[in-house]
Amino acid sequence: MDCPDLVNQTSVSSASAKANTGVPTLSVVAPLYNEAENVRPLVEWILQALESYVGTFEVILVDDGSRDGTWNEVRAAAIDPRIRGLRLGANVGQTAAMMAGFDNSRGEVIVSLDGDLQNDPRDIPALVSKLSEGYDLVCGWRQSRKDKLLLRKVPSWLANRLIRGLTGVPITDNGCSLKAYRRDLLRRISLYAEQHRFIPALSASVGARITEMPVRHHARRFGESKYGISRTLKVLVDLITLKMITTFRSRPLLGFGLAAIPALAVALVFGGFWLFSLTHFGPEKAAALIFPGAGLLALEVAFYLFMLGLVAEVALNSERGDATDIPNAWEVR
Ligand code: UDP
Ligand code: MG
Repeated sequence: MDCPDLVNQTSVSSASAKANTGVPTLSVVAPLYNEAENVRPLVEWILQALESYVGTFEVILVDDGSRDGTWNEVRAAAIDPRIRGLRLGANVGQTAAMMAGFDNSRGEVIVSLDGDLQNDPRDIPALVSKLSEGYDLVCGWRQSRKDKLLLRKVPSWLANRLIRGLTGVPITDNGCSLKAYRRDLLRRISLYAEQHRFIPALSASVGARITEMPVRHHARRFGESKYGISRTLKVLVDLITLKMITTFRSRPLLGFGLAAIPALAVALVFGGFWLFSLTHFGPEKAAALIFPGAGLLALEVAFYLFMLGLVAEVALNSERGDATDIPNAWEVR
């Protein structure tokens, strides 16, 4: 998975980390943007939650270009060999920060969670063991969400309904960062912009087996949320892109062609009006340019959309060859 947005990645881990026992089987990834006060309790909480975890694990703390003391806290935490710090040279956003963590992780199983203590690390073992029931992705579902009603819960409820309706993937809480993935799956999906909310839909489009399970959620104690209400608009725009990617990615002409049909219908209606006016109206009214003008305009739109579809097909064709569009033939486990 490439993450071209990232600049100046720096990573720290203590000398003893290098002597850590082999490759971890589980990687826990947390993005952090100005979360200085949360780092220490987060690390303690994760270590406590994984105390009885059978297998080796690593915790990857991704500092997403923080301007407060987050990086110092991450460095201090990385004294523990199980903790690794990754510092991004700029604030690239939660999705890209998560991707940076995924790219630098080593476990066959990966868990992502927010770094602000809103997700509960005690849910990690259950998510991981659910994965071993034969899933590729287990999504956390914040059944009792501790966020503001109007600014968070209502827009999120609407967004989740829209995402479910448009993608047909029956996951209740797409926005919950607490998720467990198989590495194979993460290799097959690439995320950009703020697409971490669409991980279930993107995973479904490559044939992943997905489930969800209830997880705990807490109110933010330290620091503040990095998002305002404008996020809702961004999610809507991203959703249109997602629909385009998941449905028409391999057949853009079909998408554009479908969009051209209403324009063609409008053109025909105006053409009909024009003919009707020629035969039924007086000669001066029949000469009005409005009907043929509007008809031609709509015809032009239809033609334009169709040509866009063709151009997209040509562009796509030059890219084909790597078989990433073909869903995995998942091995039976
Ligand atoms: N985050 C990040 N980069 C950003 C914005 C957020 O790494 O540009 C991290 C943030 O530090 C937190 C997680 O993403 O660990 C979720 O962000 P936040 O708590 O602000 O979102 P909310 O819970 O309000 O939806
Ligand atoms: Mg939060």
